[in-house]
Amino acid sequence: MVDISSFFADNPLFSAGFGLIGVGAGLAVLRQGARRGADLMKRQLLVSMEIPSHDKSYQWVLGWLSRRGAETIKTADTVSRDMTWVRRRIASAVLPRHVAVQTSYKQHDNGSVSTDFTMVPGQGKHIFFYRGIFIQVDRQRNAKMIDIQSAAPFETVTLTTLSRDRRVFSRILEEAREYALAQNEGRTVLYTSFGPEWRPFGLPRKRRLLDSVILDKGVSAGIVDDVRDFISNGKWYDERGIPYRRGYLLYGPPGSGKTSFIQALAGELGYNICILNLSERGLTDDRLNHLLTVAPERSLILLEDVDAAFNRNRQQSEQNAYQQSMVTFSGLLNALDGVASSDERIILMTTNHIERLDPALIRPGRVDVKVFLGNATGFQIRQMFTRFYGPGSADLADRFAKMLEGHTVSTAQLQGHFVVHKKDAMASIDNVHSLIELTNDS
Ligand code: ADP
Repeated sequence: MVDISSFFADNPLFSAGFGLIGVGAGLAVLRQGARRGADLMKRQLLVSMEIPSHDKSYQWVLGWLSRRGAETIKTADTVSRDMTWVRRRIASAVLPRHVAVQTSYKQHDNGSVSTDFTMVPGQGKHIFFYRGIFIQVDRQRNAKMIDIQSAAPFETVTLTTLSRDRRVFSRILEEAREYALAQNEGRTVLYTSFGPEWRPFGLPRKRRLLDSVILDKGVSAGIVDDVRDFISNGKWYDERGIPYRRGYLLYGPPGSGKTSFIQALAGELGYNICILNLSERGLTDDRLNHLLTVAPERSLILLEDVDAAFNRNRQQSEQNAYQQSMVTFSGLLNALDGVASSDERIILMTTNHIERLDPALIRPGRVDVKVFLGNATGFQIRQMFTRFYGPGSADLADRFAKMLEGHTVSTAQLQGHFVVHKKDAMASIDNVHSLIELTNDS
């Protein structure tokens, strides 16, 4: 009989094999132990903050990080002016190696277009240095998960640092918020609806000055006073249980300054503008209701060309896209009435055709103030003239206004004429016939 155990023990091949298995198993245990140890250390020593893309602070933090990129080079320079090697190491460690570009596109009132590029950290991990602390940024996109609100891929930015420095996160959030708000200081942010939420559209615009929009005598001041009065009377509404909202309708021919005035009004009040197109594809009654309720604070809600949305027959033949809008007229009325929150709501509507509006839409409570902005009056012509050619041109302004008497000129056409002859008031007068030719009345 062969003793099996002694056979294996005596066989050098088998014992070497067992030895190897033993070493392999030992290594595996060690490796696992090291991994667990590292995980444990990570859990004990590191702390993370995850910011999902649907959170407001997400864009703020990305913007703030892009600014830090530029500042970090400066820090690396000052810290180690004489140590080129160290400087290079810091710069390469702290600057994102993979950046993503965010382009903002802006069309100015005069039709010109400008674009601006901002570099933000791209997907992946980056490290930056902040107040003596190293922080890792990990920007990740989950292509399989869609943010149901915005229909965009779900993204997160995770900041990680040593746990003893955890307080730094609130400081970063605070700084990022202040930075974002400072960027908008003196500017008007335009929001458009994006699914059920409001998103800034393009870069914040420089505030439009109120006196750059010339309305007939007293009209502008009248509206501004009314809005100011409304804004300062929140308590009055609250005490009486009246919904705290006010509706304005600006109506009149195209090019009379309706949109421009709303921009200037927002600038004057330091408010932003939420623009809602009722004919927009996919806008439903529910969504409209929701959007009116969640509009950002200190903003004017602008419903442009309200007549277009419910004049379906005409629109459908012109553009099929309008078929996609699912807002019903009663849905709009409900949304206007049902702004249930006690937050202040200022709703402005514009139309070129007040006669096409259903009286139910413009009854008090839905539209409290109706203002007609018409073609240029003598007063407006003179005002616009002197605004363009200086206060010394009052006599010429009178002459110019007289020449236009009996003609229907829009303020937009006037502006166009003055821009063509911007340096020469006399040329503006001499060429008044070219302006009259543009009008339909001659
Ligand atoms: P609307 O909304 O009534 O169609 P806009 O506000 O879009 O008119 O005006 C079109 C252009 O004409 C803008 O560039 C604006 O600056 C100019 N404009 C129109 N009306 C006025 C006005 N009353 N005062 C100054 N500019 C005006």
